[in-house]
Amino acid sequence: MDFKLSEQESMIQNLARDFAEKSVRPMAMEIDRQCEFPFELAKEMGSLGYFGLPYPPDYGGVGAGYIGYVLVIEELCRASMVAGAIIAVNGLAEEAIFRYGSEEQKKRFLVPLTQGVSLSSFAFTEPATGSDPGAIETRARPDGANYIITGQKQFIALSPASQITLIFAKDETDKISAFIVETPTPGYNIRHACETMGVRGLGPSVIYLDDIRLPKTNLLGEKAKGFEIMLEAISVGKLGVAAEALGIGQGALDLSLDYAQERKAYGKSIAHLDTIKWLLAEMASRVEASRWLTYRTAFLRDQGANIEKESSIAKLFTSQAAVDITRMAMQVHGAYGYTKDMEIERFYRDAKLTEIYEGVSEIQRVIIADNLLKERA
Ligand SMILES: Cc1cc2nc3c(=O)[nH]c(=O)nc-3n(C[C@H](O)[C@H](O)[C@H](O)COP(=O)(O)OP(=O)(O)OC[C@H]3O[C@@H](n4cnc5c(N)ncnc54)[C@H](O)[C@@H]3O)c2cc1C
Repeated sequence: MDFKLSEQESMIQNLARDFAEKSVRPMAMEIDRQCEFPFELAKEMGSLGYFGLPYPPDYGGVGAGYIGYVLVIEELCRASMVAGAIIAVNGLAEEAIFRYGSEEQKKRFLVPLTQGVSLSSFAFTEPATGSDPGAIETRARPDGANYIITGQKQFIALSPASQITLIFAKDETDKISAFIVETPTPGYNIRHACETMGVRGLGPSVIYLDDIRLPKTNLLGEKAKGFEIMLEAISVGKLGVAAEALGIGQGALDLSLDYAQERKAYGKSIAHLDTIKWLLAEMASRVEASRWLTYRTAFLRDQGANIEKESSIAKLFTSQAAVDITRMAMQVHGAYGYTKDMEIERFYRDAKLTEIYEGVSEIQRVIIADNLLKERA
């Protein structure tokens, strides 16, 4: 067992920390206020190689593994969850194409993504469901050399900035398939971004698919294997969300340590109060546990393991921890923390999303328990 980061990993971590402090934190409050996708920031992250971290140089990537991927997301989320989440959401279609794409699809679609030349969305959720794949209503019907897709997708992050959307739809077999849709294309309409409580700027939008036509060569993987593709991509997505939650937790702890030392009560800093020490210690313990769960899951993925169960455990725990930690951080900050002048209220709002997207906590518990029982059978 070796808990030390390699020289390359430490360098990636330090560079990301520096970038987060110098370039991300100064604009984090404004991104939140405007609630608009930060195109320039995404471009800058692309030029730093942040969209190709785990992928091999043959496909335009950095070759830093999933450890490199979680380290960067963690560091960016210490300053702004939107920044880290852009990497993780973009990573969903990347992972699906990397694992299931033909050589031609990888060259055509994956390389521009890993190099930060284009961005992608991952469109699973619909107005009627985000948790139940059986309830998906979007349809893909064959028409000669094409498919025609009709339906509606809901809460699709990054869509205002994406050139590729991976769309999950029921095909003629009534099973789910995955389709790579290049945008803009006739019939593909982003109507509006949903105004959310937190992680404002991620651009989760409603997409109307009115008979969009795409060549059959844009089917990803085999027909009717869309659910398997979704689960595989989401395994890495859940790892990304765990890294987001870890970054939020660490960021909230950093802010609380600073504030506790500055704020005075009874002539001394509040950091001397036992109640504040108690909160700081509880927060730090949850951050550490989140860190090692996340890093270990990334390590397992780097070994080529299936991380369906481990990424659910990591997401379930770290998201709960992030919600708990930001609540405690708010308490440390008192009334000032509750104002828009302080960063902590944004962390408090952002943390909640980690318990919801890429599978709610209830679904993670089902996945974990099913895997445990399967291991026993
Ligand atoms: C900011 C944001 C960004 C998003 N980005 C994307 C994206 O890029 N792509 C995408 O496809 N989706 C995206 N989503 C959608 C998100 O993944 C779904 O909203 C989420 O999976 C939950 O689905 P739902 O809202 O339909 O909840 P529902 O399925 O309606 O569930 C509601 C509640 O019912 C309970 N529940 C549901 N099913 C079960 C079960 N089997 N067992 C026990 N309890 C259950 C849970 O308490 C759950 O919280 C995004 C959402 C948000 C808010």
